[in-house]
Amino acid sequence: MTDAFRTRAIRAGLNTNTDWGAVIPPLSLSSAYRRADPGQPGTFDYARTSNPNRCLLADALADLENATGAVVTCSGMAAIDLLLHDRPHGARILCSHDAYGGTRRLLDARAAGGRFSVHYIDTSDLDAVARALETPASLLLLETPSNPRLRISDIKAVAALCKTAGTELAVDNTVLSPVLQQPLALGADYSVQSITKLLNGHSDMVGGVVCTADAQALERLTWWANCAGTGAAAFDSYMALRGLRTLPLRAKAQCESAGEIATRLAADPRIGTVDYPGLTSHPGHEIACDQQSGFGQLISFDIADPDIDPLQVVQSFKIFTLAQSLGGVESLANIPASMTHASMTPQARAEAGIGDTLIRLSIGLEASEDLIADLDQALEAARLSAPVS
Ligand SMILES: *Cc1c(COP(=O)(O)O)cnc(C)c1O
Repeated sequence: MTDAFRTRAIRAGLNTNTDWGAVIPPLSLSSAYRRADPGQPGTFDYARTSNPNRCLLADALADLENATGAVVTCSGMAAIDLLLHDRPHGARILCSHDAYGGTRRLLDARAAGGRFSVHYIDTSDLDAVARALETPASLLLLETPSNPRLRISDIKAVAALCKTAGTELAVDNTVLSPVLQQPLALGADYSVQSITKLLNGHSDMVGGVVCTADAQALERLTWWANCAGTGAAAFDSYMALRGLRTLPLRAKAQCESAGEIATRLAADPRIGTVDYPGLTSHPGHEIACDQQSGFGQLISFDIADPDIDPLQVVQSFKIFTLAQSLGGVESLANIPASMTHASMTPQARAEAGIGDTLIRLSIGLEASEDLIADLDQALEAARLSAPVS
């Protein structure tokens, strides 16, 4: 899969500039576009509605997701909110119980305001999904692999259940990107992602996208993005298209490194549970082999050795940076309970299996042996000194 994407990702939008023959499409910052006649807008009219850089990025993402079209937004959260704009008042929304903390915060806040009702389910459990769908629902928002525990949900099987129940299925594809997972081909109605993460890959812009094969849904989402003003800025779109060109190569190298590091951690007696879908011991390994073309760059683990303080481990790294994002070229470490997932209630975190000392790593493009050495020295530096006898 990765190789087939390389040419499409590299060539996206090249040579489209007819004014100067620029190979790389230039950055167009103008907010207004001249009209030849008052009643006749040109291709572009006003930059909230659409701008050349956002359009090129949308076309490239729709191509990679095998969608009819894409709406590029100013953040991943804006992309998820766009899907929610399109729901009738009082709709029933279902969501993976261990979805991204910000997704749960948004759903809970909208539900508390009476906009709709939200129900969280373990989407890796098909019986739980079938039970939840017995009551009519407008949308199921599924995240796989989930973050941070990397549970795998079977997209094809969930899509079949949703189809029978008349519920639309959206998959949050942030962790893998279209290079490693194709939600629409597996039966989802929408593929939504934060392009801030693996897709842009350089941790220097914030953006999101909704891709769909349904032309009418695309028209409604495009209308809402203009109405609410949540489309991406030209500069961020320019940056993301630049990042996208190396996505297949980056994803491949990051998956390889993450696989090596996860294997090393799983064999280390100082470490407890290791969550990585590439390990044969992972409960979702077989489904991941079926529906993914790589196991991704995220690894979560906890520490088994009672003499090692997990909070000291993340503060002792010399290469891994303690920061809450994922998918970039730089490796990051995170304590989800107090960082990315801090907005969840302690009860919601317990239900999702997010312990207070769980550590999540996002593996970047540094040499894997350097990252392994950094993990080793941080684990030793965090060893509590032996009690005085
Ligand atoms: C980061 C993230 C989001 C939100 O994206 P932003 O670009 O930060 O708004 C949504 N889903 C997942 C899985 C994420 O990791």
